[in-house]
Amino acid sequence: MSRHEEIAAGLAEVRARIAAAERAAGRPPGEVELVVVTKFFPASDVRILADLGVREVGENRHQEAQAKAAEVSDLDLSWHFIGGLQSNKAAAVASYADLVESVDRAQLLPRLAKGALARGITLDVLLQVSLDPPGREHRAGVPPEELAQLAAAAASTEGLSLRGLMAVAPLGEEPRESFDRLAEIRAAFLLEHPRAEVLSAGMSGDLEQAVAAGATHVRIGSAVLGSRPPVG
Ligand SMILES: *Cc1c(COP(=O)(O)O)cnc(C)c1O
Repeated sequence: MSRHEEIAAGLAEVRARIAAAERAAGRPPGEVELVVVTKFFPASDVRILADLGVREVGENRHQEAQAKAAEVSDLDLSWHFIGGLQSNKAAAVASYADLVESVDRAQLLPRLAKGALARGITLDVLLQVSLDPPGREHRAGVPPEELAQLAAAAASTEGLSLRGLMAVAPLGEEPRESFDRLAEIRAAFLLEHPRAEVLSAGMSGDLEQAVAAGATHVRIGSAVLGSRPPVG
């Protein structure tokens, strides 16, 4: 099988899963957007994805993302940055990303805005909410109780456009339970920010549960592209 055929098969399977999840949740077909996570995979795979109709791609490490985006800059793609953001890299990420999904603290806001203004754009951002139990080490995302404050700061930062929320289901809990909590957090958030309707949730292993809980975007890597080398 060629790489093109392999990716086409993975993509067809994931699109069918998304369609089935939309039906099961009573949601209109085509409502959920697929973001293919291309981390660890070469720019040639991104080219194949674009050829197969993918428009949104996700990356989680700045250097890799920047290099890959530059290699396929001739393609009409929307780049989502989905990884942990170092403050000193934030302005650089804003120079190529179309949507930064992983904003988890206020210090990032002026830096992202600076990068956006230098590029002459308004940068779309999502706030990453932690679904981890309190007290766990290395929680990614803003704790839910601090979300309102971060959202107010993001909404009032010139150069940024607050589009919604992102989350990753933690290990050690049924994804459905985590995503149900996320749906509640989002409902409260939408009262303050009614137009920030994006909800990025769901990966290869839990996209069905995320779609059931209202995800508008799913971020899928391995189910489309195959398994990655383990992260060290
Ligand atoms: C890698 C990654 C994904 C995709 O994970 P898969 O399990 O390969 O689908 C989604 N979201 C984030 C934040 C990631 O880092």
